[in-house]
Formats: sequence, structure tokens, C-alpha cells
Amino acid sequence: MSIFDKWKAGGLQIPKNKEATRNLKTIEATAPKLLYFPMDMHIGSPAKVEVEVGDRVQIGTLLGSRDKGISTNIHSSVSGKVVAIENRRVFRGESTCVVVENDFKDDADTLESIVEHLESEEFSERIQDAGITGKGGAGFPTAIKYNKEHKEVEYLVVNGSECEPYSTSDFRCMVEYSEEIVQIIRAISRIYVIDDTYIAVEDHMVEAIEQLQKAIDKTGTEHIRIHVLPSEYPQGHAGLQIREVLGIETMEGQRSGDIGVLQSNVSTIKAIYDAVYDNRPLVKRIITVTGPMIKEPKNLMVRIGTPVSHLLEECGGLLQGEVDMINGGPMMGRIFHNTDIPVDKDTTTLLFMEKQQEREETDCIRCARCIDNCPVDLQPILISNTYREGAYDKAPALRSESCISCGTCTFVCPANIPLLEDIQALNKKWKEMQS
Ligand code: SF4
Ligand code: SF4
Repeated sequence: MSIFDKWKAGGLQIPKNKEATRNLKTIEATAPKLLYFPMDMHIGSPAKVEVEVGDRVQIGTLLGSRDKGISTNIHSSVSGKVVAIENRRVFRGESTCVVVENDFKDDADTLESIVEHLESEEFSERIQDAGITGKGGAGFPTAIKYNKEHKEVEYLVVNGSECEPYSTSDFRCMVEYSEEIVQIIRAISRIYVIDDTYIAVEDHMVEAIEQLQKAIDKTGTEHIRIHVLPSEYPQGHAGLQIREVLGIETMEGQRSGDIGVLQSNVSTIKAIYDAVYDNRPLVKRIITVTGPMIKEPKNLMVRIGTPVSHLLEECGGLLQGEVDMINGGPMMGRIFHNTDIPVDKDTTTLLFMEKQQEREETDCIRCARCIDNCPVDLQPILISNTYREGAYDKAPALRSESCISCGTCTFVCPANIPLLEDIQALNKKWKEMQS
């Protein structure tokens, strides 16, 4: 059975709330005096620290090298001096961080120039050396997807749908870097011998569609097609998008690579362009700083390692009142409490909302909305009950690990039951039982 059968019914229509920043050109954020580079800003093993306190570094200096298995490199985004290596609170919990004091000289190390006609091995090595991870929010080391050793690729799907409300970083990336995106897609198509390439965008992204089409027309690359999706949530999820764009089902437990599909977020694609054509490792990204509580919402080009407090200053600070600070969008994002936390490679959006009154949880009224709206056909209330009863070993029977953390069930529940929280807690317990 496909895990996306429920999606046939269509997704959620939720307010996009992107007006505050969608038409704002990305501007370069100033660099702060101190930057914090977590060695654990991706899925998998943390990077191994490669510098010592007192070392001088440049933009692009390797601060942490990838560990065995799933891991990636971390590079400095400023020039200056390493002043501390310490444990700090970060978006993923706690991590060893290399602290660099910026000398504001912006001296830079670049990666070695590479040959014009790359083959797949050199290409995935470059992605690995540049420390590229999925910039859509997942933080998965990208080189693993592009390592052709063990699989054939038939399709490339570039995910530009950015279905989270408020986020506009992918949208701005497509509007402002359409030519770079098309150029690197052409290179990937050649290297991996892919005839069918799609850029998936939502139907409200008119300017991005126009710019991308212009870039495609200019290069005469007919095999790159723009696939316009309806504005439904969660359109950005890998398996759902593959089904919508290609009509291919992803079965339980499969990844896109298993079915011959190479899939990358559009901002990740731009990072690959930077690494291949400009020899630059991933040290910057576009971040949308927005929400009703921020004085001047902006799309900022931000150096990785910049503390949130610095970006708040860049955006005029917060309005008076109590605030919920969210890393990501309102559906899948996570509340954080400390503005000293540095932004990392998968920070797409910093959202500042009026503090939500604690919504009182009431008894389930058995309306089945959570079940009807789950795009992967789970029974969220049953999983939640199972967690609360402590029957953790029932997780596999309820397929709770197939949850894509879209937050739809929590969003639609009239009884305010924190269903997603319970599901994630159950999955964590189940994992602990396995180890
Ligand atoms: S968060 Fe809820 S709605 Fe989304 S996949 Fe998981 S169980 Fe289904
Ligand atoms: S949506 Fe909420 S109230 Fe309705 S069945 Fe699910 S848990 Fe119960």
C-alpha cells in the first residue's frame, strides 16, 4: 500500500501569510562580532572539531570535518580568531560549538577550482566538501543523495513549493537566482543522464514561475519543466510531491532515491551551484525573519553561526508584548526561548508571533478530523492514546514512524490535543527501546 493514499483527498487550505516579505528583495545581513558554529547542525553524527582556540580562520576554513557515516563538514562564515570551543544551546538541543570572533576583514578561502565537465563522483565529492545539507529544514547531508554508486536516477524533482505559511526564503531564491538554478539543474541532468526534470512550485508563486521560465527559455533547456502545484499543505513533503509531480507511489519505508528520483530543495540546489561554479562552501543562506511581532520583516542573506539576537536588531527589534519565537513556520516549526542561539544551515524562517494563550486541552470528541486529514493515513488519536497509556511497543503496529511531522492533526483538532507532540514522544520511546 502506498503511504500517501489519503492524499488523494487533497491537502489543507491554510492562510499563507506571506505578504509581509514575499516582495522584499533579499538583503545582506551585517555580520556580528561573535559567531557560534554548532558541530551538530545536521542529521547524523556531529562533525569533528578541526581547529583550536587561538587559531586564525578565514571565510571557508574548515572548522569541523564530517564524521563517519551520515555527517558533514562545517566551515567558518567570517574571518577572525577561534576564541572558544564550548557546549551551547542550539536549535537541535545542545552541541559543541566553535566560537569565532570576527575581525571584519572578510578574508576568504575558497574550495579548489574544479573541471568544467564533472562526473558524478567528483560532483558528489564537491557537495560533500562544501558541507551542503538539505536547506528545506531537514538538514540531511546532500552528498549522500548525489552519490551514484548504488543507484540509477531517472528523474530530478526540485522542490520549490515552500508550503509553510510565512516562509519566503525559497520563493526569493527562485526569483533572485533563477538563472543559477537553471544552470546547475542542467549540469545535474547531464552528469546523472536525466531526461525528466521538474521544478515544483505552488500556484501562487507567479513571479518565481515567470523568472524560472525566462531562464529556461534563455538556455533552451526544454527538458526542465515547471510543475505548478495547487496551494495545499503539506505540498512540500518529498513523497507527496513525487506522487503529485510524477505519479509515482512511494511505498512504506522507501526514500526517493529508492525509486529513481533525485529530489532537492531549491535553496539546496542554489548551494550546489555556489559550490560547483563559485567554489564556495555553504556558509550563508537566505532566512525570512517575519511575523506580526517583528518591527521590520525581511528576507536576509545570513552568515551561518549568527545569533538570532543579531538578526532581531537587523529587523528593528520586537514590538511590545509577549512573543512566541519559532524556528520555522507555524506548522512544523519549533518554539525556542533563547535569542543567543545561532542560525544553522537549515534555518529557513524565524517567526515572531503574539504569544498564544495556552489552549486548554479537552476530551476527544471523536470527530475523526485528525484521521481524515492525515496525508499518510495514520490514526493520530490512537497513536496519542497509545503513548499516554505507555504501550510504546505498539508503535510499529500503528505505523507511527511513518508520521511526516506535518502538524496537520494538531492543527485541525478541536479538542487541542497535542497529537504531533505525542506521536514524536512515542517514536522517541520506541527508538530508545530498540537501542
Ligand atoms: S503530523 Fe499528524 S497529520 Fe501529519 S503525518 Fe503525522 S500523524 Fe499525520
Ligand atoms: S481531531 Fe481531535 S477531537 Fe477529533 S478525533 Fe482527532 S483527537 Fe479527537
